[in-house]
Amino acid sequence: SATPGRSGYTTVQVFSDKVQVAEDQSYLLSKFTYENALVETTAEGKYKVKPVKEDYEFKLDLKVPKVGVMLVGWGGNNGSTLTATTIANRNGISFHTKKGKVEPNYYGSVTQASTLKLGINAQGEDIYCPFNEIVPMLHPNDFVIGGWDISSVNLADAMARSEVLDYDLQRQVAKHMSGLKPLPSVYYPDFIAANQEARADNVIPGSDKWAHVEQLRKDIREFKANNDLDRVIVCWTANTERYAEIIPGVNDTADNLLKAIRESHSEVAPSTIFAVACILEGIPFINGSPQNTFVPGCIELAERHKSLIGGDDFKSGQTKLKSVLAQFLVDAGIRPVSVASYNHLGNNDGYNLSAPQQFRSKEISKASVIDDIIKSNQILYNEKKGDKVDHCIVIKYMKAVGDDKIAMDEYHSELMMGGHNTISIHNVCEDSLLASPLIIDLVVVAEFCSRITYRKVGEEEFKPFHSVLSFLSYWLKAPLTRPGVEPVNGLNKQRAAVENLIRALVGLSPQSELKLEERCW
Ligand code: NAD
Repeated sequence: SATPGRSGYTTVQVFSDKVQVAEDQSYLLSKFTYENALVETTAEGKYKVKPVKEDYEFKLDLKVPKVGVMLVGWGGNNGSTLTATTIANRNGISFHTKKGKVEPNYYGSVTQASTLKLGINAQGEDIYCPFNEIVPMLHPNDFVIGGWDISSVNLADAMARSEVLDYDLQRQVAKHMSGLKPLPSVYYPDFIAANQEARADNVIPGSDKWAHVEQLRKDIREFKANNDLDRVIVCWTANTERYAEIIPGVNDTADNLLKAIRESHSEVAPSTIFAVACILEGIPFINGSPQNTFVPGCIELAERHKSLIGGDDFKSGQTKLKSVLAQFLVDAGIRPVSVASYNHLGNNDGYNLSAPQQFRSKEISKASVIDDIIKSNQILYNEKKGDKVDHCIVIKYMKAVGDDKIAMDEYHSELMMGGHNTISIHNVCEDSLLASPLIIDLVVVAEFCSRITYRKVGEEEFKPFHSVLSFLSYWLKAPLTRPGVEPVNGLNKQRAAVENLIRALVGLSPQSELKLEERCW
């Protein structure tokens, strides 16, 4: 019954003996053999490799629920831009700029505006289909958006304050947004820059942190009931907080964190209060900012409740490019020696980041992005040659450029026989127009993953994925991983994981670019 532009619309039919659809069409069952290789590195630096495989069964619930998206920081640039964009798309509102008429779209969203290769046609040509038309997915036109902000400004005025969208669009969507008002939020001034204080006129009163958790849980339940929703997903797109100190006995375990909240300990950040409220409600929580919301106790709590969490920090402009470019250089056998990244931006995010502690959160998040790429090549990076890249990150607030963040990067690399190569990139990122589509993808993919369960051969029960949903890494700068696991930063690897998951669900093997039909006689 689904139609284009709505949830659940699919165009692909796969004929495979590895998949079957339940008689009542409620779920899809697929068999998948996960193939890998187990490697042992010997003392002499040799590798012993053994292919390994394990059989899995995946079950995908085919009914896309009615989903509420609650944004923390709803009245910010990202929150208001996303809200206006979904309204324009849902209602087919086109608008004029000096270049002419613009039809609404979701460019920049992988799930809405990119394609996946299905296979080849009879002539051997690659055939692609829209990313979200293979298995039923949530569509942003069906998002019911709500949320919290420490600023009481309604969404129409918030959109105007953000100075992101063209006036002709603002003019038309404002009437749909003026009645939308963020719920009061948790505000602990110590965690965001002092320069944000003037905005904070919409806060949950009191200093009892457990009462704040309870209030947020009530807000979520009421939003769900009032809008007749099946599910709610919460995404933090509020200001960057400073790092919380990890203190044994306070936030190192789930029980200690709950105790610390009950005692209103000063090191529990608002974002962690939101995460805990969502975990206790059993709903996914995604952190789009760089701070360490997911302190160890918070991750343990999510694991305990089998609730999904994802983070940290939207990967939008500069870092996205870095996670492609650094991978390209290192995979090409070229040795990046230094990466210098400068930004200046003039939006409220930049204003908040002009405070040292909040900048530090961003610096940490941006700095880790090439670590695993460097580690992957011991020919270029080793003890003798050095195993670090000089990586420097500068962010300056410059009001005049507004949301048009300028990112300037210089990649200085060592070539053959002592040669050098320098790539300089000047990237004007319309910041919130790059970040808002990421929220769509994070919500769509998190919702999608929450409908998947699996069992390994011999197991009775189907289980959900691990709480730390690293399938979301493509959209996040400093991917959160389950404790003890190193993150994967390379963008192409991250996308391949999601693509191959979708393929596995419909009985297709992982994407291979062998193209033997072309290469063999
Ligand atoms: P913004 O400053 O325009 O919006 C943030 C909103 O959060 C503001 O309206 C503010 O009032 C609100 N807020 C602050 N503390 C809050 C709290 N405790 N509870 C509820 N609301 C609160 O910023 P933005 O440009 O929309 O970016 C949002 C976040 O996303 C920032 O942390 C930013 O670092 C992160 N981020 C943005 C991008 C991007 O825009 N390209 C990329 C990566 C990460």
